[in-house]
Amino acid sequence: MTDTSPRQILDALCAADSLVILGHEEPDGDCVASQLALAEFLSSRGKRVGVYSAGPFNRYEIRAYAGRFRPAIEADTLRRKPLAVLLDCSSPKRTGSLAAQLAGLRTVVIDHHQPGPPGTPDADFGDLRLVDPAAPAAAYLVQLILESSGDPLGSELAELLLLGLCTDTGFFCHIPAGSTAAFEAAARLVAAGASPRAVHQGIYGGRSFAHRRLLGALLQRTERFHGGRVLFTYQSLADLRPLRDGPAGNDELYQLLRTVDGSDVLAFVRERRAGEYSVSLRSAPPVDVAAVARQFGGGGHRQAAGFTWTGTVHALRTLLIGRLAPQTE
Ligand code: AMP
Ligand code: MN
Ligand code: MN
Repeated sequence: MTDTSPRQILDALCAADSLVILGHEEPDGDCVASQLALAEFLSSRGKRVGVYSAGPFNRYEIRAYAGRFRPAIEADTLRRKPLAVLLDCSSPKRTGSLAAQLAGLRTVVIDHHQPGPPGTPDADFGDLRLVDPAAPAAAYLVQLILESSGDPLGSELAELLLLGLCTDTGFFCHIPAGSTAAFEAAARLVAAGASPRAVHQGIYGGRSFAHRRLLGALLQRTERFHGGRVLFTYQSLADLRPLRDGPAGNDELYQLLRTVDGSDVLAFVRERRAGEYSVSLRSAPPVDVAAVARQFGGGGHRQAAGFTWTGTVHALRTLLIGRLAPQTE
């Protein structure tokens, strides 16, 4: 899908003295892990490196890392004309409030999302691109880049990369037949000292009782459309008030609803601020929710995609359920 090799990317990164590493807003385990692993590797080679994210760091498995990210690139860093690296997304827009700061910087894009059609920003942006929609995670591409140096990965770096790989593959549950790459990559990470047990605990462990009750409420309010093939549920800001440990638990919700007999699309709407929502879509093959998300200005993968919505949940539900009909009936 790309004609740039991991080694060419490594050479470009190593040729720079100063680098800024950015990921998408509302980061997930893959985004955070890829950014931090690449930053650590480059710092250990004497580079000046900063990691940046518009946040918010809501997802449970990444909150421990939030303090290592800065929300904006500092003016003196920008004056050095750093090489920018865009991870787990392909267009400046996906970096949220950081987008304007990328203007005029030479940029390397490392991503595994399906690019939009030629001519759209996520298909064309960047001076050097390693974009492979067949890659299981951005962390997997970072692993190939670091491995191309020939240096062994330390256990900390390996565990970060395993966090990214496990987040995006649902702990290896979403991998189709014949795809051995994620397992081979995981084996190399475990050999380098990463602990699958620790990564699993980091992603799924430590939830409060209030979280589990919220999961119950989200299940209770799930509606079914198109003969039960489409499931729709939402979380409001008010739902999060009883939680002292922040919003989380989406993966468990997906796991429970994706496995409902007879359903092949799940839409989960989260209120981010009054009147503004993040919409997550999940589907069973062959339903392509990335195509639906693109109709709403978003994107993602065929089976996991998303977009943001401004308006009411009611209007969104009507429009989205309508758009989901032709594919699923
Ligand atoms: P999420 O449901 O937030 O876990 O996202 C599922 C997938 O869709 C991820 O690969 C995201 O990068 C992608 N995605 C989510 N929201 C958007 C958006 N607004 N624009 C483009 N891609 C998105
Ligand atoms: Mn991501
Ligand atoms: Mn990813």
